[in-house]
Amino acid sequence: MLWQEEYPKAIEIIENAYIEAKTANMSSTTMLYVYDSLAAYYSTMSLFEKGKQYAVLARDLASKNGNFVNGLPVIYILCMTYERAEKLDSAAACYEEMIMLSAMVKAPRYLFLAPAGKANVTLKQKKYSQALQLLYLAKSYVNKVIVNPAHIIALNNGFAKTFLALQQPEQALEYIQASELLLTDYDRPLNNRYSRNTLSLKAQSLEQLGRFAEATNALKLLIKLTEQAKETTQQKLEQEARSRFESTQQDIKLQFAEEKLKYQQITLDKLAKEGQLQAAYSVIGILAILSITIFALNQRKAYLRSQRRANTDPLTGAHNRRYILDFIAAQLIGKQQNFSVSILDIDHFKQVNDQYGHDIGDQALIAFSALLTEQLADTEYQFARFGGEEFIVVMPNLTLAQGHDFIGNLCICLKSLSLTGKKITLTSSAGVAQMQPGLALNTLLKVADTNLYHAKNTGRDKVCS
Ligand code: GH3
Ligand code: MG
Ligand code: MG
Repeated sequence: MLWQEEYPKAIEIIENAYIEAKTANMSSTTMLYVYDSLAAYYSTMSLFEKGKQYAVLARDLASKNGNFVNGLPVIYILCMTYERAEKLDSAAACYEEMIMLSAMVKAPRYLFLAPAGKANVTLKQKKYSQALQLLYLAKSYVNKVIVNPAHIIALNNGFAKTFLALQQPEQALEYIQASELLLTDYDRPLNNRYSRNTLSLKAQSLEQLGRFAEATNALKLLIKLTEQAKETTQQKLEQEARSRFESTQQDIKLQFAEEKLKYQQITLDKLAKEGQLQAAYSVIGILAILSITIFALNQRKAYLRSQRRANTDPLTGAHNRRYILDFIAAQLIGKQQNFSVSILDIDHFKQVNDQYGHDIGDQALIAFSALLTEQLADTEYQFARFGGEEFIVVMPNLTLAQGHDFIGNLCICLKSLSLTGKKITLTSSAGVAQMQPGLALNTLLKVADTNLYHAKNTGRDKVCS
């Protein structure tokens, strides 16, 4: 899903796996895969600090178990995270470790991936002859191991980039042609990205060779592909239209870039009419940069929205079940034994719907959630809509008795809801449970739920613990 740029789906799957793995007692290999996926996700999303945290967790788990084969993919993610975060020295050292480790365990894939990765880093460090050596080393494994064509395209483009930097455009072009050949019989969702990368290198090589007309054609194609990629992102954005989150700054930048794009297009048309090829060529360059900027801004916006949507309940705007379980698993379990949770369920809520209609029922849920937000505002406690008319409150540093009292008072406050034009009195029942050392999260929730059931069965409008 990540490779196919299906980010919201990817994070949904990974987070569910994470919660499963945390709540049940999964093997450390399973946990390792989960950390690995989280690291890959966050580093793809440019959240490098978070990505690194998970990559380090995974690496430690792998080395604790002496599991090198599982350790290698994990170290690979860590190296890529350093690289994407532009921590080039750390990245180079990391890939170096990978080169040694893969030779030690004779893991063929990594005999290729490690030097290829390090070559990229040295290229960024402008150490061209070292980069070239590493690229040749990686290339020597291409026919010995099974690697994804995408990696070979990246390798070819690495060669092209190096030769371009060394002012050897002829050699660069040879590798670009090899990439183009692979791209024609490798049909994948990511083709667009690899094609764009290849085309940009092609244009630069042709420019170095003074073949401006061909360079212009390559850039035109690049713009077309960028536009297509933009459209795909746009479609994803529309799917996410329900999400309320807007990043105003991104919007302003986007508008600005689009305005400029329009203006440049007009200039280009004018120049084309007048037959000024050289001038048109530089305008096309600006057009390409603008299109890419717009594409990147759209990507960022889509990401922000999907991130927000994944953690938020659409009706009330409160946190959702996924968020709170993740919060407990990541922030509390193992770090703090002294916390309590409470599940609150509105009493006879079905009657509200029956009596006033579903819309008023919705409004009541929104008001209920707003009141909870208000009541918990200055505390370290968090709540989420757990489902239907059920909410969960998490109380760090509270014992069972303290949690019981706190929820008791909270329920009193929640009794009187003001809706537009109507005053509805809603009572709630709640079950409280306290975390015990070694208790699994789902067991803790079960205890709270049993206590809630007891409150319902013994008259409602009360707290049981
Ligand atoms: P109890 O005191 O035993 O909890 O009774 P109850 O009626 O609250 O519980 P029950 O589980 O029988 O019904 C819950 C109701 O909550 C039924 C469902 O229609 C309503 N509900 C759940 N989600 C929503 C929602 O998003 N909007 C509205 N309006 N109603 C909802
Ligand atoms: Mg209810
Ligand atoms: Mg219920």
